[in-house]
Amino acid sequence: MIEIVFLGTSSMIPTKERNHSAILISFKGNNILVDCGEGTQRQLKVAGLSVSKINKILITHWHGDHVLGLPGLIQTLAAGGYDKVLEIYGPKGTKEKFKHMFKAFEFDQNKIKLEIKDVNKGKFFENEYFILETLPLEHSVTCLGYNFIEKDRRRIELAKAKRIGLKEGPLLGKLQDGKSITFKGKKIKPDSVSYVVKGKKVSFISDSLVCKNVYTLSKDADLLICESTYCSDLEEKGEEYCHMTARQAASIANKANVKKLILTHISARYKDAKEVENDAKDIFENVKCAYDFMKVKI
Ligand SMILES: [Zn+2]
Ligand SMILES: [Zn+2]
Repeated sequence: MIEIVFLGTSSMIPTKERNHSAILISFKGNNILVDCGEGTQRQLKVAGLSVSKINKILITHWHGDHVLGLPGLIQTLAAGGYDKVLEIYGPKGTKEKFKHMFKAFEFDQNKIKLEIKDVNKGKFFENEYFILETLPLEHSVTCLGYNFIEKDRRRIELAKAKRIGLKEGPLLGKLQDGKSITFKGKKIKPDSVSYVVKGKKVSFISDSLVCKNVYTLSKDADLLICESTYCSDLEEKGEEYCHMTARQAASIANKANVKKLILTHISARYKDAKEVENDAKDIFENVKCAYDFMKVKI
């Protein structure tokens, strides 16, 4: 089960209800923070989540509303004796930006191990369970969209396995890995006692205009989390500031065959989330406007 918590859902200016951008995605012991707006560490506390469990940070771009929480959060981790390596991925220039950031206030960098990587496009992380990939978006500064892709896995049908006398152990493990085995002199193919469960895909599209890569990234996603700073009446303003409307996000979800759409990065002018949802609804039905501390499981 992939768990997602929205820690901040405002655009440029935070409101009483909405903090600056941050989303936490948790899966198989990994806690990945996508952006870290100002106040994110307190939002984690309020949500009852432990800051020290974060092991990866993905930065979409270096506008303040997406990164101003980084120094505070890293300082807290360092003070708390964080004993893992914190992996940080961001657009070109991220490594350099961190150097400047640590010059701007007194901070002992020896207290925490950071692995900072600039990424640009394609797959940049893979383990046994999932893949992380990125593509550039179109914003007023270099900005990246991200995909979290769970790997397909095999589920053993225990009743079928028992019927032929197979019990849990290394042989079932091999079948689960998709390999054939020989049991009591007979060859057994993985498909005879197991089936493939398709992995889930979650796409994060932060600040951007509608561009080719938003479709490529979100194609067939189970969940698309997309910026929607404005409603359609302010589409021109959106273009001027390189942002999208709820309706444009819905149109992407529709064309990219997405299953569920969640809108975030909402302008402070919209007090009622329903207004944002309604702007998207006649184009894409399965849409929700995010709110701070909203939890989603897929
Ligand atoms: Zn923003
Ligand atoms: Zn921005």
